[in-house]
Amino acid sequence: MQETIYLDHNATTRIAPEVFDAMEPWLRGGYGNPSSSYSLGRQASAALDTARSQVAALAGCQPAEILFTSCGTESINTAIHSALALDPDKRHIVTSAVEHSATIKLCEFLARRGYEITWLPVDAAGRLDTAQLEKSIRPDTAAVSLLWANNETGVLFPIGEIAEIARSKKTCLHIDAVQAFGKIPLSLEPLGIHFMSFSGHKIYAPKGVGALYASRRMRFTPLLRGSQEDGRRGGTQNVASIVAFGKAAELADPQTTAPATAALRDRLESSILSAVPGSSVNGDTTNRLPNTTNISFEGIQSENALVMLDERGICCSAGSACTSGSVHASHVLKAMGLPEGRARASLRFSIGRHTTPAEIESASATIAATILKLRSLAPAASPLAPR
Ligand code: PLP
Repeated sequence: MQETIYLDHNATTRIAPEVFDAMEPWLRGGYGNPSSSYSLGRQASAALDTARSQVAALAGCQPAEILFTSCGTESINTAIHSALALDPDKRHIVTSAVEHSATIKLCEFLARRGYEITWLPVDAAGRLDTAQLEKSIRPDTAAVSLLWANNETGVLFPIGEIAEIARSKKTCLHIDAVQAFGKIPLSLEPLGIHFMSFSGHKIYAPKGVGALYASRRMRFTPLLRGSQEDGRRGGTQNVASIVAFGKAAELADPQTTAPATAALRDRLESSILSAVPGSSVNGDTTNRLPNTTNISFEGIQSENALVMLDERGICCSAGSACTSGSVHASHVLKAMGLPEGRARASLRFSIGRHTTPAEIESASATIAATILKLRSLAPAASPLAPR
């Protein structure tokens, strides 16, 4: 049977074996409610404490500043909701045009509720202009919410500079670090950020668990009201998944894995670029996640490439997973000014901790052959296709 080569780790990751082993007992015997006072409950509560410390250690913050949620999307919604509750008279939000749909959809909803949203643009390389950010913040700005790492291109926003601007303007800052967490080293403590969102399934834990860093310097207003998580997030905790998230955070070692991952990604990228004329990388290549490359191929349609690559055992993506299946060009690539045709001819490859050099060799050959085959099937569509 044909082996699958999984190059879509920004969409999700498989559960690491050690993570599965850590969570399994909590799906079997350890079913106590962590709020219960008998020992079965106390054991579950202690397991949550351990997981909180593990996630806090990877984030470089205090365990008391981490609250567990159901996903990155919930963390984002919670952070922005809490920021807006600080002062109901502040009705302006600053975000960017290249955010994940979790932020975009929430801001669009808030705009319908009368909030004013500033959608900061990016340049052709997907970079944010921090001078423009500074200018956009006003006395009535309730929150700035920005990505750290873009899920489609991997391009990193300058988080230190952004935090400095928010601090000087005394504005509440939320950072969506769902893609950056575990992939690049992070220490929240010196940054002075108020909220940061994380998700388990991007770091080899299961889907359906997330975390939010909420600084103790900021008054917090919960989205889901209840007594759990110190009153900051109601709902009985998903103990097994939280334990898994903690273990996954403990296993993540971005300091060590980032250079090795970047070397494999670079090998994949350069092999494809040299084998396929008319291919080019989208986004800043000097400041991006170590595992991501987004490449446009003249003369193809990414949906067709995805189908053919799938038949050949390669999983990758066209735009973000949340918008794949639709025929729209990626909003991220469009915001970078790519023409519609090039944006719709782009594929994202995101490699993971378990990706091997042999897989990279095999995948780059298959990808190149697939693109050339697609061009040969539709020669008129490509000026570069063989005639
Ligand atoms: N933010 C970014 C940058 C993401 O890539 C994703 C998921 O793809 C999310 C937020 C949402 O996370 P979740 O799937 O846990 O809701």
